[in-house]
Amino acid sequence: ARAEIGVTGLAVMGSNLARNFASKGFVTAVHNRTQARTDALIAEHGGDGDFVPSTSAEEFVASLVKPRRIVIMVKAGGPTDAVIDELAPLLEDGDILIDGGNAKFQDTRRREAALREQGIHFVGCGISGGEEGALLGPSIMPGGSKESYDSLGPMLEKISAHVDGEPCCTHIGTDGAGHFVKMVHNGIEYADMQLIAEAYDLLRRGAGLTPAELADVFAEWNRGDLDSFLIEITAEVLKQVDAETGQPFIDVVVDAAGMKGTGTWTVQNALDLGVPVSGIAEAVFARGLSSLAEQRAASKDLPGPAAAGSVDDRDAFVEDVRLALYASKIVAYAQGLDEIIAGAEEFGWDIDLGAVARIWRGGCIIRAKFLNRITEAYDSAAQQPASLLLAPYFTDAIAGTQDAWRRTVVFAATNGIPAPGFSTALAYYDGLRSERLPAALIQGQRDFFGAHTYRRVDRDGSFHTLWSGDRSEVATD
Ligand code: NDP
Repeated sequence: ARAEIGVTGLAVMGSNLARNFASKGFVTAVHNRTQARTDALIAEHGGDGDFVPSTSAEEFVASLVKPRRIVIMVKAGGPTDAVIDELAPLLEDGDILIDGGNAKFQDTRRREAALREQGIHFVGCGISGGEEGALLGPSIMPGGSKESYDSLGPMLEKISAHVDGEPCCTHIGTDGAGHFVKMVHNGIEYADMQLIAEAYDLLRRGAGLTPAELADVFAEWNRGDLDSFLIEITAEVLKQVDAETGQPFIDVVVDAAGMKGTGTWTVQNALDLGVPVSGIAEAVFARGLSSLAEQRAASKDLPGPAAAGSVDDRDAFVEDVRLALYASKIVAYAQGLDEIIAGAEEFGWDIDLGAVARIWRGGCIIRAKFLNRITEAYDSAAQQPASLLLAPYFTDAIAGTQDAWRRTVVFAATNGIPAPGFSTALAYYDGLRSERLPAALIQGQRDFFGAHTYRRVDRDGSFHTLWSGDRSEVATD
């Protein structure tokens, strides 16, 4: 046995990850259920590094030095369980099984607990960056035991993306923490994409910019606060011209957004944890609405605003939309980080938010320059801010967007252009800063119909008003 790391599941992600390990000088064992994939990898890239191919799980396990380190890179769900069931009996105390797929963190917790009984370390490992990231350096979010990270971490750090010399990989927390954080990463990605799409829509429909002009606008934005991978690729997509029709590429694509589920999971878990991730939720819902082909077709004649407002100063409008996007994006990150804090508390993880922001600076889909500022917000603070919005840098940043943000939301509403991401972010912001919320009225209603009781502003305890009696108040505890 001489392989230092093994990868099983050699579809696009697994083979690229294996090539990444091999390119960093690790002897890499490779295996796939269907032999043809292993053969193809060796035929095409066998010369790029030291690979040890196997034809069976037994041979694969035997090719690894102990403690064995095996990355599973197969379809998430049942297939991952099938591979674990096949490998686990072949492993020994101290071996490390790593699941690099997009697993539900609850599945990771279950698998980790079961394998721990057998003395096997199970590391649920979030990997972001798509195919290219897997090959050239992804952002890696490993969970599992601290002990397993001691042996595995340095290898993962070596194959991860690097920013300012620092690896985009850190031990996130025990059991399912890595997959939880990867899930929230994807939720933030949904929100970010939705916000960019809204900016595009407002500028195109509202101010009449062409896709080619918009490509230039996004390329310009990518040089400032919004500097990020998603803004960069937005400019590329908008620049693209369809070879067949000569139309802008964007105009020949069906406007129904697909999804694979991680955004939905982020929202489902936020609901369970009671965290208002409204920006992420709106992003998931907006994709859902876009796919309602029948309802959308039937709704074309629903009335809209009578007179659309026009844009007099195009440059000023572009700047307003940029600022609205920036503010809404900060809110989406604040909400996502709140979900991580709530998850950590619920599941007993010790998660360093500054480190999470640090490893998202490179390799992953939401990589962005402003993540440096998030890291600083958590690293430099003597006390963690109660919300990202309360970290001084971001409080200032949002203060600078105020008027533009509000004008943009008003413009969208007045002109009948949907901007659910911008609007919900602003409503969240105003909700947080309101000294009094109408929740008091909701408490009154709840007490009225269900005797759910309420608390008073002027003394402790819970109270109920005898609504169907003489409407006097009684203390209930
Ligand atoms: P797929 O999700 O398409 O999975 C294909 C691989 O799974 C093949 O190697 C296949 O083997 C194997 N497989 C499927 N069922 C079984 C089974 N029952 N037993 C053994 N092996 C099985 O591949 P991807 O490379 O796209 O993704 C791999 C994982 O990485 C997924 O969990 C995905 O969610 C995650 N991921 C993907 C990203 C991406 O950008 N694509 C980004 C980040 C994570 P066979 O060849 O025999 O069919």
